[in-house]
Amino acid sequence: AQIRAAHAERLQALGQLAGGIAHDFNNVLQAVGAATGLMQRRAEDPEAIRRLSRLVTEATARGAAVTNRLLAFARRGALQAEPVDAPALLEGLHDMLAHTLGRPLTIRIEATAPLPPLLADKAQLETVLVNLATNARDAMPEGGTLTLSATAEQVTGPHPVALAPGAYLRLAVRDTGMGMTPEVLSRIAEPFFTTKEVGQGTGLGLAMARGFAEQSGGGMLVESAPGRGTTVTLWLPQAGPEDCAAAAPAPPPGLLCG
Ligand code: ADP
Repeated sequence: AQIRAAHAERLQALGQLAGGIAHDFNNVLQAVGAATGLMQRRAEDPEAIRRLSRLVTEATARGAAVTNRLLAFARRGALQAEPVDAPALLEGLHDMLAHTLGRPLTIRIEATAPLPPLLADKAQLETVLVNLATNARDAMPEGGTLTLSATAEQVTGPHPVALAPGAYLRLAVRDTGMGMTPEVLSRIAEPFFTTKEVGQGTGLGLAMARGFAEQSGGGMLVESAPGRGTTVTLWLPQAGPEDCAAAAPAPPPGLLCG
């Protein structure tokens, strides 16, 4: 609850987000400005020009990546919640990830069907899960096991992320990777916090995941320790009969909509 409160403070401070954007773009502009300035002075040195122009390309790629993530971040407002069959979603992701993560990883699904459907924006949920799986892959350079799990959970009392009482589906992305130090763990929800190299990470993945979970009426918890791997858990509300009745044109077949 403490981390969540601190996070809410940060995310609600829109000014800080804007500050982060400005900071990131300033870095891009400074890199481009410095490199082109040097290119002008070293115009006779082809090797220097090649090296400096590579820096410009890298800086602009980072700028573009930030823009794309920001656009996704901005679209959060327009969530289209619908009943989602979690085991089917995870199975689909399994096949996609097996082809795209590009490293010898064992990918496991733990979803004890039949599970009640959850209520969330399916496309955004997929994006969030792919981001979490990509983080897990990055944390396992020597390979390891990525587990995607889904479990139903009834919240009745005090909860680690202060969820309101109700029926939820718990989705977890677990890896056997390097884990995080307490210092990193305390900063992961900050927009633009990243430990990755320039161009490799924008530091928006976990901030977006948390924002998505909370906007969907759920929450997120990250558990991690160095050498012990990481588990990111998302709680999303279960869809009720009225959500299924409202689903257009009809709820996906096989959903247990009460
Ligand atoms: P990015 O992946 O672009 O850096 P994120 O917000 O997704 O941005 O993650 C922020 C930081 O949290 C990462 O740079 C990394 O240090 C750490 N992190 C995230 N997921 C994991 C993980 N599964 N294992 C270890 N560290 C992680």
